[in-house]
Amino acid sequence: MAKKFKATTAGSLPKYGWLAETETLWPKWKVPENELWEKQKESAMLWIEEQEESGLEIISEGEQFRIHFVHGFLKKIKGIDWNKKTKMGIRNDRYTVEVPTVVDVVSREESIHLKEAQVLREHTEQLTKFTLPGPMTITDTIANDFYSSKQEMAMHFAQLLNAEANELSQAGIDIIQFDEPAFNSFTNESVEWGIEALEIAIKNLDCKTAVHICYGYGIDENLRWKDSLGNQWNEYKTLFPALNNSNIDQVSLEFAGSKVPAELMRLLPNKEIMVGVITVVADHIETPEEVKLNIAEALKHVSKDQFIACSNCGMAPIPMETAKLKIKALGEGTKMANTVFLD
Ligand code: ZN
Repeated sequence: MAKKFKATTAGSLPKYGWLAETETLWPKWKVPENELWEKQKESAMLWIEEQEESGLEIISEGEQFRIHFVHGFLKKIKGIDWNKKTKMGIRNDRYTVEVPTVVDVVSREESIHLKEAQVLREHTEQLTKFTLPGPMTITDTIANDFYSSKQEMAMHFAQLLNAEANELSQAGIDIIQFDEPAFNSFTNESVEWGIEALEIAIKNLDCKTAVHICYGYGIDENLRWKDSLGNQWNEYKTLFPALNNSNIDQVSLEFAGSKVPAELMRLLPNKEIMVGVITVVADHIETPEEVKLNIAEALKHVSKDQFIACSNCGMAPIPMETAKLKIKALGEGTKMANTVFLD
């Protein structure tokens, strides 16, 4: 066997009911402040074990230490006024949320996720992946009352992300993935400046780098949005040629159960591709056979060397047991694909 397909998740996993509110995107912690770190760590370790037992080979901490993938990074950044909440339509008005506001130069004066990355590194022998929000998605999830444009603000955040990513890489993280769901909402701007900001974020890192671009969590707002996109989702058609020319190593994309034309994966010949072979909706649990078939579809368009099995998106808002079963199917289906396609 030349090579084994690896499997991984896009990043976030549900939080246990004893740690935080469940099945919601912005849960509240259920643990007092002085016990929070230990409980988050316990939860992360359970998920590391769960991923390993399911046969995944690129492991994450499941974002157990952060309430939300963007604000987890922002909470220690200076220049943000958390009391100045601005009501804003994000992802091109798909959801309206109250977001904090940038009121001064943004700066990062201390490590943000380093301790979390160390927990991950210490508790698995497998490859590790750590997720950070991408610069464009940050600027789409926070209000700007200081910089001249979103673009200018994104370049500043990209430098802070680069410093953070460099520390995580030095701590032994193998893959740093920047989550850029906003790329699909603003395809033209992504090509005009989003990828340039991403290049700043990944500059001179010693580890592999990835970008995750999806159609969002399996929640109602997104399902309605997806319904409005028609029979062929062609956002990747604009993005992929530019990404293929970038310095990013891996691209994580949505595929299973979507209307993304599979042949668009051909636009990324120079990249490793984390193909979404399980969905993130709560009402469907894939069988391993289904995962294997999704892999077979993808392999019509991507080479075996490029292929990594992944979930379409994060699983933070879905029920715990559903997520566990989906991950088991992901691991099992990838194992089946290894036997069938790689012998
Ligand atoms: Zn996603």
